[in-house]
Amino acid sequence: MRRARTLRAGLHHLRTAAEAFPDALVLLDAVGRLRWCNRAAHRLLGLTWPSDRGLGVAARFADGALGAWLRTGACDADDVPSPAAEGVRLQLTTMPFGGRGQLLLARDVSHVSRLEQVRRDFVANVSHELRTPLTVIHGYLELLDPEEVPALAPVLAEMRMQSQRMREIVEDLLTLSRLEMERHLPEDWVEMATMLRVLRREALALSQGRHRVVLEPPARLDLLGAPRDLHSAFSNLVSNAVRYTPEGGTITIAWRRTAQGAEYSVTDTGYGIPAEHLSRLTERFYRVSSSRTRASGGTGLGLSIVKHVLNLHEARLSIASEPGKGSRFSCSFDAARLRRAGRG
Ligand code: ADP
Repeated sequence: MRRARTLRAGLHHLRTAAEAFPDALVLLDAVGRLRWCNRAAHRLLGLTWPSDRGLGVAARFADGALGAWLRTGACDADDVPSPAAEGVRLQLTTMPFGGRGQLLLARDVSHVSRLEQVRRDFVANVSHELRTPLTVIHGYLELLDPEEVPALAPVLAEMRMQSQRMREIVEDLLTLSRLEMERHLPEDWVEMATMLRVLRREALALSQGRHRVVLEPPARLDLLGAPRDLHSAFSNLVSNAVRYTPEGGTITIAWRRTAQGAEYSVTDTGYGIPAEHLSRLTERFYRVSSSRTRASGGTGLGLSIVKHVLNLHEARLSIASEPGKGSRFSCSFDAARLRRAGRG
């Protein structure tokens, strides 16, 4: 008798704690029907206990972004609009619970989303505002003739180089801002054979005879995607390989069939990257060695752009590298984005 009372009191405490929780907690049974939810679930998801007991949650949210996420079967999602509260953005998580049931957690992350938006707008606006004055300065620098004042020739050359660098940084920041704002890019079938030939030509031009550039016989597969952005991502990898490989090295460009689809890769025999840096390479302005990077003329944004473009194609970037031996950057695409070449 006393044990039953203690158990009931324990349960009561647990439920009160769950009720006070600011996140929505929803318990689902093995077939996705609502078993219980707390008060926050009413505010954030529009679910009410006990009146919604037994309700099929997937069917209730079938039309919106929440339903689309539930159908994917993914374990988490960021920044999904709330189906119940206007302007509220949710972070969602599901986890197994009590045997075959599931626990759905929804957290209000509207303030984080707003801050992210402010950051994105700020970067986009600053870059946009810098573009015109930089173009003007660069234009005047181009007009100045170093032969008229030979003593200033080295200064002028340095100023031109730096203003060009600033222009490249601004252009890359604008590209990143655009990619961040897009949910889907306009897509078309990309003839990979042609794209690869262009990439090889670009590598040869950048290398100016300092490297061997090999194009492996490519898989006869075309790729569905945004042609301009895919080219920009692929050529960033090629340009990195050239810039971070000393003279005499080899750069290999490949497009191969894989078990899941196909993979574009660029392999070099260059400086390589120590393992502790690999996970951070796609962060903006992250550099392994700033002196080497500056000398090689990068903006520090190339791999961020690659990652964003690949995300918009549900593709994955893998990096394998060994210091002193070289690196391999590969982009894996799902079979759904591929078709036999020449079918268009
Ligand atoms: P950056 O303009 O500095 O090259 P990226 O975003 O393209 O910017 O690359 C980030 C950093 O990753 C580079 O600064 C460099 O240190 C490292 N990196 C990228 N590609 C290679 C490569 N093929 N070999 C060695 N290091 C590389």
